[in-house]
Amino acid sequence: MSESLESAQLQESSVRADVSAWLESNWNADQGLIDWRNQLVDSGWGMPEWPADWYGRDFSSSLVRAVEQEFARKGAIGVARSGIRLLAAATLLEHGNTVHKEKFLRRILTGEDAWCQLFSEPGSGSDLAGATTRADLDGDQWIVNGQKLWTTSAHHADWGLLLARTDWDVPKHEGLSYFVIDMCQPGVEVQPLAQMNGHASFNQVFFSDAVVERNHLIGEIGNGWKVAMTTLAHERRGADGLRSGHSGIGADIERVGRAYDEERAETKIVMEPYTWYPQRAGRVDLLVPRALDSNRIEDPTVRQELAKLLILSSSAQWTARRARAGQQRGKPQGPEGSLGKLAASHVARAAARVHTLISGADAMLAGADGAEDGIVAEILLSVPAVSIAGGTDEIQRNIIAERVLQMPKEPRFDTGPFRDVPKNVSPRD
Ligand SMILES: Cc1cc2nc3c(=O)[nH]c(=O)nc-3n(C[C@H](O)[C@H](O)[C@H](O)COP(=O)(O)OP(=O)(O)OC[C@H]3O[C@@H](n4cnc5c(N)ncnc54)[C@H](O)[C@@H]3O)c2cc1C
Repeated sequence: MSESLESAQLQESSVRADVSAWLESNWNADQGLIDWRNQLVDSGWGMPEWPADWYGRDFSSSLVRAVEQEFARKGAIGVARSGIRLLAAATLLEHGNTVHKEKFLRRILTGEDAWCQLFSEPGSGSDLAGATTRADLDGDQWIVNGQKLWTTSAHHADWGLLLARTDWDVPKHEGLSYFVIDMCQPGVEVQPLAQMNGHASFNQVFFSDAVVERNHLIGEIGNGWKVAMTTLAHERRGADGLRSGHSGIGADIERVGRAYDEERAETKIVMEPYTWYPQRAGRVDLLVPRALDSNRIEDPTVRQELAKLLILSSSAQWTARRARAGQQRGKPQGPEGSLGKLAASHVARAAARVHTLISGADAMLAGADGAEDGIVAEILLSVPAVSIAGGTDEIQRNIIAERVLQMPKEPRFDTGPFRDVPKNVSPRD
């Protein structure tokens, strides 16, 4: 065994022993969830990958995995990670000042505050830099007016990550600033939007003279695009996902106690907007059992489409694993982000097609009478979201063409002062 491998293994077993001993003395399922998470935050074991100055331990991903496995072994609850909160944290860690970090990071980890991402607008989704929601400085406050759209979880958010225009006389990317806005104030109106799959995960948000404290500007005035890119880079890496399982470690632990009850109640609220996300991914996992149970596997067309889908899905997983392994070794993100996003969209659409081949017209029946208790109908209505959320397929292709393949860029007509750029909404100016 090489010397460096041996020392890495020694370091990992020492970390495992430390965290296990700490959990043995501190984890108690009967305590309040917030009290427990405050203890975790102070210990640095809750977010060991974060900087030691800010509730972490500067651990590498392999040590973080060891810590997570020890938590799973004891059945100990971790810090809050679901929803948009970790995107907020990642952005504040990189661009926030000490006041921002002190004010927001702890309550993100304890789960006391929920967050939403106020980027897209009716006239600017793909063209995010074309945002026309405005923020004007008035004494010690920024006054915000405009509309955001598609804002997941805005209906239960305490704080929003807001991209707003602060200068109309410079090119569009240079006139944006990034703020943290209090969502629970009279100038913020949140209206849920009904989706065709029956859920209502996102909202439209109207700002009418909403107020942002002057010191809730993140980064510099006019530097909002750069800060937003940090949020989006973390979004693409899936930083807002739930913590993955650990191959069944701790699965047999009986989860009884106040902390577990409070975590279940929290998960129910925070994860409610995401309940249909497995369906939007096409539920590839259901296809082989469905084809076998229904005997449709005997149909050569079904078999052929199913085989094509499984090949596509496996190769996409391998690309994702390669990207993850690269990141763990500290490699910067390559083209795998856009390729993976595009592959997910192809897989979801192909899965919807095979579900329909298996069910025939029954695939259109919603509710308990429909195939798989209506799950197949929900898949058909949810799959289009994958090709839109987090950047559309066309935008991913543009990125791959221009940045990866170095092909000529699209001609642009929006490079002058933003005030003069043609827009499909009329800003209140
Ligand atoms: C499930 C879900 C959750 C979301 N959550 C959030 C959230 O929490 N916060 C938030 O801010 N946003 C959120 N969004 C919004 C999402 O980021 C936008 O929908 C997305 O960026 C596309 O923007 P758009 O809907 O305005 O479409 P548009 O940009 O209007 O695009 C319309 C069509 O034109 C095509 N098109 C546009 N520009 C080009 C181009 N240059 N070249 C080729 N084709 C082009 C697009 O590909 C698309 O087919 C969410 C969306 C979904 C579906």
